[in-house]
Amino acid sequence: IEKTADVIVIGGGGAGLAAAASASEDGSTVIVIEKSISTGGNTIRAGGQYNTYDPDRQKNVKMNQSLLNELKGYLDDKPEDYGDFAPSLITLQGQIKEYLAGDTTVLFDSPELHTIHAYIGGKRTDLKGNTITGNYELVTTMTNNSLPTLKWVEGLGAHISDEVGTVLGALWPRSHSPLEHTGIGYLKPLEDTAVKLGTEIMLETEAKELIVENGKVTGVKAVKSDGTPVTLKANKGVVMATGGFGANPEMRQKYNTYWPEMPLTMKTTNTPAATGDGIIMGENVGAQLVGMGFIQLMPSSHPETGSLSGGVWGSAETQVFVNKDGKRFVNEYAERDVLASAALQQEDQLFYIICDKNTAGISPEGKNVWGDDVEKLVETKSIYRADTLEDLAVQLGMDKNALIDEINKYNGYIEQGVDPDFGKSNFGTKIETAPFYATPRSPSVHHTMGGLAIDTSARVLDANNQPIPGLYAAGEVTGGIHAGNRLGGNAITDIIVFGKIAGESASQMK
Ligand code: ADP
Repeated sequence: IEKTADVIVIGGGGAGLAAAASASEDGSTVIVIEKSISTGGNTIRAGGQYNTYDPDRQKNVKMNQSLLNELKGYLDDKPEDYGDFAPSLITLQGQIKEYLAGDTTVLFDSPELHTIHAYIGGKRTDLKGNTITGNYELVTTMTNNSLPTLKWVEGLGAHISDEVGTVLGALWPRSHSPLEHTGIGYLKPLEDTAVKLGTEIMLETEAKELIVENGKVTGVKAVKSDGTPVTLKANKGVVMATGGFGANPEMRQKYNTYWPEMPLTMKTTNTPAATGDGIIMGENVGAQLVGMGFIQLMPSSHPETGSLSGGVWGSAETQVFVNKDGKRFVNEYAERDVLASAALQQEDQLFYIICDKNTAGISPEGKNVWGDDVEKLVETKSIYRADTLEDLAVQLGMDKNALIDEINKYNGYIEQGVDPDFGKSNFGTKIETAPFYATPRSPSVHHTMGGLAIDTSARVLDANNQPIPGLYAAGEVTGGIHAGNRLGGNAITDIIVFGKIAGESASQMK
C-alpha cells in the first residue's frame, strides 16, 4: 500500500487526534496510522482530568485557609531560587498581592501559578544526583494555552463539567472533567472533527521507521497486522504521537534512574501498545532525548491488574490512605512520586483509600469516574463497603479499633485544619457518613516523563537543539515538560495543547 497526504500522524491517542483535527482544520490532508485495533491509546484509559486556570468555572470553588497560606508563602520566595522560572514567580507575586487586596473567598488561579506548580512538582533529583526541572518555554506554552485549547475542544463538541476539583497529585483545584468519563470525552470530538474534515484513519498499521530524504523527514514505513507493507509519504510533515514506554519493561529498565527498584514485572496502568516506538524511531533519525530516567508510578492502581479503574474516591483533598494496619502513612495531597514511594514501603506495597458517602465520588447513577458500576465492584471485591467503620475494618482483616481511631483522629485534623502527622494542608469533608468504602491500591507504572526533545512549535530537536526538518511530536512521546514528576491532570492538557500545535506547525511547515 502506498499513500500520500500533507500530514502523516503516527499514533491515534489524544495527541495524535488533536494533531489530526488541527491540521485538517488548517486545510491539510491527513492520514493517522494506529497500530492497535482502535484509536484511544492511554488517553482513553485516563481519568480525563484537564488542568487549567478557568475564571468562569473556578468561581464555584471556595478558597480556604491552607490554599491562602500557600499563596502567601510565595510572596516570601526569592526569584533566584526558581531558576529559569523566575519570571513566572515575579508575575505571580504581583497577582497574589492584587488578589489579597480584594475578595479572597473566590479561588485564585492563573497560568503563572500553574507554571510554578509544574516547576515545583517536576523538579527532582535522580539516583545519580542529577537534578531536572521542566523546560520553561514548554511549560509556559502549556499553561498559557491550556484554557484556549480547552475552549477549542469544547467548540468541537467536548462536554466539560462545571465542577472543578483536584485530581490526585494536581496540587491545586484546577482539574476539569469531561461529562462522558475518561479521555473519551476529548478523543471523540477530536476524531469526529478530523474525520469530518477528510482525515483517513488506518487501524492495525504499525509505524516501523521514518523516511528521510536530503535531511528531511518525508514519510514513514509501516506494516499492517496482516503483514502488508505500507509506505506513507508526507507532503508537509510527520507528527510523532505514539505515547510513552510504560508498557515496555526492558526500556523502563534501560533508562530508569529514579526508582531504586523497578522490577520487570511491575504492573502498569498503560495500554500494552505503549512500547516507546516513537522514541526509538525518533532517535534513529537523530532526535535528542530528554528526561528519560524519570518514570511516574501511579500510587493508586488496582493491586492485581495495575489498572487505574475499579475503585471509588473523590477529589484529592478528600482522600484518606491507610495501610493494612489501618494507619495513615503519607500526606494524601502530595505529589504522586511522594505517594508512590510511601506506598512502596507499606506491607505488601498495599494500602486502602477510605471514603464515605460524601467523598466516594459516586455518580447518582451509581458509577465511579471510569463508569464502573459500584454494585459490581462491591460484588467482585474490587472495593469494600460497610455501614460502619468497624465493619469495614473487619472486612479488611484489620484491627477494628485501629481504623476507627485513625479516622477519628483524621476528622479532628480536618476540624483544626492541620495534620501534625503528615502535614496535609488541604482537606475535604469529614469521613463520617455511611456507607463507608475502602479501595485496595498499589503503585504501578503510569507515565514516562522523558522522550523526544521539542520546541514550542512541537518541532523535534536534534542533539544541537536544531529542528529536524519535517518531524514534529506531541504527547507522552515527548520530554521536557513534566521533568521528574508530572502533576496529575497535566497530561491531558499537555497532549491536547501540543497535539494541536504539532498539527498546525506541520500543516504550516514551520
Ligand atoms: P498520548 O497521550 O501522547 O496521545 P496515547 O498512549 O494516548 O499517547 O496514544 C498513543 C497511540 O499511539 C496509541 O494508540 C498507540 O497504540 C499508538 N502507537 C504506538 N506505537 C505505534 C506505532 N509504532 N505505530 C502506530 N501507532 C502506534
